[in-house]
Amino acid sequence: MSKNVLVYVEFADDKPSKAGLQALGAGCRLARQLGGEAIALIAGADVAGHAAGLGAFGASKVQVAQGEQFRVYSQDGLSRLLAQQADAVQAVAVLTSATPAGKDFMARAAASRKCGLASDCTNLEVEGGKIVATRPVFAGKALVKVAAPGTLWATLRPNVFAVETAGFTAGIEPVSVTFGVGDLRAVVREIVAGAKGKLDVAEAEIIVSGGRGLKDPAGEGKQNWDNLEKLAATIGAAVGASRAVVDAGWRPHGDQVGQTGKTVSPKLYIACAISGAIQHLAGMSGSKVIVAINKDETAPIFKIADYGIVGNVEDVVPALTAAFAEALKA
Ligand SMILES: Cc1cc2nc3c(=O)[nH]c(=O)nc-3n(C[C@H](O)[C@H](O)[C@H](O)COP(=O)(O)OP(=O)(O)OC[C@H]3O[C@@H](n4cnc5c(N)ncnc54)[C@H](O)[C@@H]3O)c2cc1C
Repeated sequence: MSKNVLVYVEFADDKPSKAGLQALGAGCRLARQLGGEAIALIAGADVAGHAAGLGAFGASKVQVAQGEQFRVYSQDGLSRLLAQQADAVQAVAVLTSATPAGKDFMARAAASRKCGLASDCTNLEVEGGKIVATRPVFAGKALVKVAAPGTLWATLRPNVFAVETAGFTAGIEPVSVTFGVGDLRAVVREIVAGAKGKLDVAEAEIIVSGGRGLKDPAGEGKQNWDNLEKLAATIGAAVGASRAVVDAGWRPHGDQVGQTGKTVSPKLYIACAISGAIQHLAGMSGSKVIVAINKDETAPIFKIADYGIVGNVEDVVPALTAAFAEALKA
């Protein structure tokens, strides 16, 4: 029986994304444990040039699906491709990143093969010869271990799995695809791009998040948000937000952290004037180090914070920025 692990490597800004390379890393380690092969799959209108480079990230084989049908994201196109290639390589596990796109097309691909999907996994291991995935449930309050009777289909939480550094010279295989643009049942008509060069909270190693306590950036909160941006720029962080902030229209939905926003696992999460509602914690409690700044010492965020600063963001954020700038100068 095959022990092949198939990993769909997502692209962002026309190159393999960090989350994609992390999923590939997880796939490589799983394949090693199984004694099988890690096969990377990439798709796009112009991706072939990136295939060889994936060997350096642990892929022993890279399958390339290049064509117009993959120019823009299509749930239909990618789910068909994944299902086709999972069969072709007789994959025991099919993996990709738990990004909005990954969660979307993988569910459909898995269902087309009459399999379930283990979504947003934080660990993969082999126990008694079976692949077992760990995933948080109940807004991160519990973990479940999932095994599949056949092929395990899973999406992996970004920033949890390490990128592989043991490189190979990857063999490259073009994939023949039997459907074209005209066969796709749904097509994306327009993509509204976010700000160019903006660090995405889902991939950032450091996040500075703002809550309702920062107030309206178009009014009395302007200085607070400027201070937050300055702190983020000083330490190379992405700016995140609570839902209260996003609902008020102060920040775009792409910045929202939490149950109905993005799940993040950065090395450092600085929560500024965020109360720590359960729905917010669901998206960030997996952060390695959590710092909370809140003027209310009873705010629930302090229960999960590694470091808590009871104080006013108006004073604490500029003071932190100055201290970081000084420390980073040294
Ligand atoms: C189904 C559902 C899904 C949800 N999904 C999400 C989600 O994905 N993400 C999310 O974040 N929320 C989500 N929520 C909303 C959540 O319940 C909270 O309402 C929200 O997180 C509160 O945002 P906040 O902490 O910014 O605001 P608040 O709860 O109003 O907290 C503001 C905090 O700022 C502090 N503060 C005020 N002024 C200052 C100051 N000057 N200096 C220091 N501290 C100050 C206050 O003490 C307070 O603790 C969801 C709710 C539901 C019902």
